[in-house]
Amino acid sequence: MAAASTPPSPAAAPPRRSPGRHRGEGQWAAGHFTPLNPNEQMKRDDDGLNVRTRIETVYAKAGFDAIDPADLRGRMRWWGLYTQRRPGIDGGRTAVLAPEELDDRYFMLRVRIDGGRLTTAQLRVMGEVSQEFARGTADITDRQNIQYHWIRIEDVPEIWRRLEAVGLSTTEACGDTPRVILGSPVAGVAADEIVDGTPAIEEIHRRFIGDPAFSNLPRKFKTAISGSPLLDVAHEINDVAFVGVHHPEHGPGFDLWVGGGLSTNPRIGVRLGAWVPLSEVPDVFGGVIGIFRDHGYRRLRNRARLKFLVADWGATKFRTVLEQEYLGRPLLDGPAPAQPVARWRDHVGVHRQKDGRFYVGFAPRAGRVDGTTLTKVAALAEAHGSGRLRTTAEQKMIVLDVPGDRVDSLVAGLEALDLRVTPSPFRRGTMACTGIEFCKLAIVETKGLAARLTDELERRLPEFDEPLTINVNGCPNACARIQVADIGLKGQLVLDDAGRQVEGFQVHLGGALGLGAGFGRKVRGLKVTATALPDYIERVLRRYLAQREDGERFAQ
Ligand code: SF4
Repeated sequence: MAAASTPPSPAAAPPRRSPGRHRGEGQWAAGHFTPLNPNEQMKRDDDGLNVRTRIETVYAKAGFDAIDPADLRGRMRWWGLYTQRRPGIDGGRTAVLAPEELDDRYFMLRVRIDGGRLTTAQLRVMGEVSQEFARGTADITDRQNIQYHWIRIEDVPEIWRRLEAVGLSTTEACGDTPRVILGSPVAGVAADEIVDGTPAIEEIHRRFIGDPAFSNLPRKFKTAISGSPLLDVAHEINDVAFVGVHHPEHGPGFDLWVGGGLSTNPRIGVRLGAWVPLSEVPDVFGGVIGIFRDHGYRRLRNRARLKFLVADWGATKFRTVLEQEYLGRPLLDGPAPAQPVARWRDHVGVHRQKDGRFYVGFAPRAGRVDGTTLTKVAALAEAHGSGRLRTTAEQKMIVLDVPGDRVDSLVAGLEALDLRVTPSPFRRGTMACTGIEFCKLAIVETKGLAARLTDELERRLPEFDEPLTINVNGCPNACARIQVADIGLKGQLVLDDAGRQVEGFQVHLGGALGLGAGFGRKVRGLKVTATALPDYIERVLRRYLAQREDGERFAQ
């Protein structure tokens, strides 16, 4: 094992003791450098980024059994690798088996796609990697990544070589790191764009991703940057977010949000009331991630997200520390974003770009595609557009730069692949996390259920024509954002009519993103078996259709 790393001194914030209840939270800025739990010890023993050399020189040659357990269940995440769930273990045993009993000998591999920006050359390589090394798997995640399964450790160096040859990487795709930077999928092309955040995303990637100064954070750190008035990157639930606004004196820029996050103890991010011009976004990002690294809580994993620090400090103190100790200057006050005019944020359908061409967004089933489909989409995008594509934060994809006279042909090609450009509200609004098929934390199956549910609701409710989000999670975590869906489904075991434990869901109703963002109500005692789910949702939607008043939407 490599030598233990020393926690970096806070760059702009000399360690200082803060008295009171946080002295035991393991904050580096309070002088608490002694690891207080096994995860902090693992990171202290060796930086997660260093595992790459061992993968390339030892593990890929010697095989799965040679992998150090601390690398297997810890540091490999810094390069986007998680062991996947061993097949055949039911959800009832998820919580009771030891990690090694749940581990398969194959990996999930996450490819980061910052801003969701892709070329057809990159998509083609991703499709080839899927077919050659991942048994054809490829899921579009709700953080604009592509995720593979069935990866063998022996193949990882070759996969990296191919991905990196076209400018893709898995660096810090998982782990206690700055994760993929969400960006508006129509940045630079949308006619209604306030500001194009792409230069900031590229600069943040260049300066911070893979930098050992920021590779040991208390936990993951999620970023979203969008200048779209549709608020299309779920900025409310990211650790730091930059949201496009017009400043009355200074013009286009970003409204700064911090401390959002779901999972247990979900929180909507708070505005700091600060306006940030495009050129200053990377510095402000550096300040916020620096605060998280230095002041973030490290004692308990379930209190280690930035949202807990923001909740304790409040917006005023957070902004003061950011300005005085990290930026060395005050930020300008600025306005809040306006309420979007459209409810869908996913850019599905055919839309005119500001240059007169069109972008075409399409919906797979709950983010599930496959390697063959990816290569076919690459060919279609090449034949109809300029070779640029995007992934969205709703598990969708977009082909950019399509001339008007090529739109119909592209739409026909996508629909022939079952990639819907004009999907039903159910296909369009349903997302699902990985679930029990591959996820070690899962209790229930999700992707297949979401696809079947979509088909069933389309058949039963062809008249339903409203925006609706149905988010399916395989466990109490929130990878598919259940708390902010119209209908959020949290996977758990429930009792069926015969009293048997079966896969099912706790139902949350009425969550939302946008300026009216809030968490869905857990319907007391309402648990539905997976089998009964179509009946339940049909009942809810039929009742709504029968009782709605003029102008009322399901999400109100
Ligand atoms: Fe796994 Fe749970 Fe996340 Fe789904 S929500 S991917 S089951 S951890």
